[in-house]
Amino acid sequence: MPLDLTQLSQITEPLLAWYEKNARVLPWRENTDAYRVWVSEIMLQQTRVDTVIPYYERFLRRFPDVAALAAAPEQELLKMWEGLGYYSRVRNMQKAAQQICEKHNGIFPNEYEQILSLPGIGAYTAGAVASIAWNKPYAAVDGNVLRVVTRLTADSREISNTKFKNEITAALQEIYPVDKCGIFTQSLMELGAVVCMPNGAPRCTECPLQSLCSACAAGTQPEYPVKKKQAQRRIEEKTVLIMIYAGRLALQKRARSGLLGGMWELPNLSGKADTAQIQKWLAKHKITQCRIVKGRPARHIFTHIEWQMDSYLIECGQVSADSDFTWITEQDLENEYALPTAFKKVYTQNRPL
Ligand code: SF4
Repeated sequence: MPLDLTQLSQITEPLLAWYEKNARVLPWRENTDAYRVWVSEIMLQQTRVDTVIPYYERFLRRFPDVAALAAAPEQELLKMWEGLGYYSRVRNMQKAAQQICEKHNGIFPNEYEQILSLPGIGAYTAGAVASIAWNKPYAAVDGNVLRVVTRLTADSREISNTKFKNEITAALQEIYPVDKCGIFTQSLMELGAVVCMPNGAPRCTECPLQSLCSACAAGTQPEYPVKKKQAQRRIEEKTVLIMIYAGRLALQKRARSGLLGGMWELPNLSGKADTAQIQKWLAKHKITQCRIVKGRPARHIFTHIEWQMDSYLIECGQVSADSDFTWITEQDLENEYALPTAFKKVYTQNRPL
């Protein structure tokens, strides 16, 4: 059954009135310049608001505009992003910034199609920037908005279905208030984030849409949204090495493509290696006379993969001058080299330096 536009059209006014009184004060709401909206939206993907705030403020101080981001050295950019994960997001942001400098004179485009054509920007982000920064009637439909709409309409279609998502986007765009597009986008997101919460625990008594909500009337809120069953995560076992030589830690670069592509990592072997296997591996890399001590294991979960990591601390006695590794100090690690969270976990819980 198609979405009921008459029902949806009634949400605009109460939602806007509620947002005006209840919106959280967030740094990216103080100035809705397109560049700032874009940075915040990319950071907020898969990441909690509390985590994003200090990253956002630091990023904006260092890269205050498109030109500064376009010209940033990659290593520094990745360091700024360290801990946020999904590093392709920031690499794509830089590509997009460079494209804006080349094609749009460094000025963030204000046409939806032009925004959508930038690297790393999909319909959600384009809709958020077009509506929040440029007050255009484009919806930004993310998980929060899907949850609100499917509960409101008690629609049990599965939300990863593109046709359904497009239908929701189109229906919302029909009801966008002409002069308050940005506020409307934010009010929908806000309601999903703080009132119509996930995991079957909405705060319906505080909701401005309660009298309009089909799921609330039927007491079926936890049944929405309907999601496809997720495939089980693949487990990968690894042995991670914290190798120290003359007070310096060994890092190496990951292959450019694939998971954490092009990032720095602690040297590691696939599977669970024992001391003899590690010794053989070290010798192959021209590192000898080592003291090897077993460290604490760690686990890291990515979207589709889980790493189960054993760790070893290795004091390297002799290292060939042409060793395959980059040897860095603790200070370098702090200031310059971005180490993905999975490796940072292993390192900090076995901290040797
Ligand atoms: Fe969500 Fe409850 Fe509001 Fe319905 S009434 S939109 S379920 S918070």
